[in-house]
Amino acid sequence: MYNIGITGCGPAGLSAAIFLHDQGHDVALFERFDKPKPVGSGLMLQPTGLQVLDKLGLRLETEALGQRIDGMLGKIAPDGKVVLDVNYHVLSPDLYGVAIHRASLFHVLFEAVKLRSIPITTGCDITGLKHEAGKVMLNSAKVGGGDAVFDLVIDATGRQSKLLQYAEQTPKHRRLDYGALWGTVSYDAAIFNAKLLEQRYKAANVMVGVLPCGNLPDSETPVATFFWSLRNDAYQSTLNAGIDRWKVEVLQHWPEVEPLLAQFDCFDQLAHATYSHHTLPVPYGDNIAFIGDAAHSTSPQLGQGANMALLDSLALSSALSTADSIDDALALYAKMRRGHVRFFQAASWSLTPFYQSDNKVFPWLRDLFFEPVSKIPFADRVVTSLGAGLLGKPNKRIEKLSLRR
Ligand SMILES: Cc1cc2nc3c(=O)[nH]c(=O)nc-3n(C[C@H](O)[C@H](O)[C@H](O)COP(=O)(O)OP(=O)(O)OC[C@H]3O[C@@H](n4cnc5c(N)ncnc54)[C@H](O)[C@@H]3O)c2cc1C
Repeated sequence: MYNIGITGCGPAGLSAAIFLHDQGHDVALFERFDKPKPVGSGLMLQPTGLQVLDKLGLRLETEALGQRIDGMLGKIAPDGKVVLDVNYHVLSPDLYGVAIHRASLFHVLFEAVKLRSIPITTGCDITGLKHEAGKVMLNSAKVGGGDAVFDLVIDATGRQSKLLQYAEQTPKHRRLDYGALWGTVSYDAAIFNAKLLEQRYKAANVMVGVLPCGNLPDSETPVATFFWSLRNDAYQSTLNAGIDRWKVEVLQHWPEVEPLLAQFDCFDQLAHATYSHHTLPVPYGDNIAFIGDAAHSTSPQLGQGANMALLDSLALSSALSTADSIDDALALYAKMRRGHVRFFQAASWSLTPFYQSDNKVFPWLRDLFFEPVSKIPFADRVVTSLGAGLLGKPNKRIEKLSLRR
């Protein structure tokens, strides 16, 4: 059994802490916030991520707080021509995704961590590592001394990790031109279909979305995440023009969202998210493993990030329980995840210009071909498997490689 330090209390860090604690390792969590808290709004849990939550014994709690989603419907604004209509049922009648507010997913994972009394040191910004006699120590203004010496550190600090220099090869970060404004609104199921993620597009420079995402913890009110794609360099001018001007623009594209927009009085109610893309060629270094967005970040176009983080946790914990040494476990973890991570990172990168860019040709192709292609038998299964994160059967691969030894 190992002494393991995990940095970051997002979905990757919390899920890894639970798996590894339950396997008998000594686990400690470190988080830069004074109080661990989720950042952002709703996200889609795909069947891949739900299977991991099932293994954690947390699927039922998660689904109770989230909203079952059967498919995604994308239309051209404002005329409403359908350009994307995918439904999980194409693959199996029992398959679905779950949209959940980040605060609710955090709540489920954090309560499970608390229940196990896994120690959490908060308010510590992890800035580096020190290796000594086969052990690894975390650097931060707050941690130090004997408490922070580990056999293995797991970096789950997300896309802006300060530990990437300790990976075998450092990745290139590419900042994407487009980000989005995201806000949480209470949701009227009489106007929107609660089981659909709906989007409206105009070329690739306008995208509006509504994702019903269940309840916040301790609340019965259904909420949705509203998002508006925005060039990063237009953020300040959008703020300067004022919220009413912005609402007029959004309503030109999707008038039915008026009751949702009416809930925003000022831009402080909306978070501005920027996106960047990187993939670690090798997701480990000496006595350190990288999981979640620290290992691979991208735009949320395919809605896979949190699911990939959960899969990484499952893979790393399975590898540690299968292999005879930490070095072998890290190599096995990389092998379990390599194909899936590379494929979905490439797919997200390739699809982004179709939805969030100034390109004219890609969205034109999207509007012409995506919907008819997604209706061709077999192609419909491939498209749905892509959205569901199931291409390459990542969960089965982890299981297979865990059993092989
Ligand atoms: C707007 C938006 C929408 C998204 N939608 C989806 C979706 O629909 N489906 C999906 O699967 N994914 C989605 N994603 C991606 C998903 O949110 C991420 O992939 C996921 O949160 C990654 O989890 P993580 O635990 O690796 O990192 P994070 O969630 O980023 O958590 C990192 C944690 O580490 C802490 N930390 C950071 N730096 C330090 C430090 N130096 N020291 C100590 N602690 C530190 C942070 O405070 C945080 O708690 C979306 C992302 C965005 C921005």
